[in-house]
Amino acid sequence: MTTPPPKKDDHTCPICDAPAPQTVKTFPFCTDRCRTLDLGKWIKGEYVISRPMEEADWDED
Ligand SMILES: [Zn+2]
Repeated sequence: MTTPPPKKDDHTCPICDAPAPQTVKTFPFCTDRCRTLDLGKWIKGEYVISRPMEEADWDED
């Protein structure tokens, strides 16, 4: 039983796992939709990290 080795230059979209060859404009994402989805994730994370500090946070001690 022999199976062909996986092609190393086969890149898949990190969002939906669809094939996303380096030739696509939206690389490393398969489509613009997935690129937007990923961007949205970053923006959401950014909001959590950089929420404005409130003075009350420092007043605990
Ligand atoms: Zn995708």
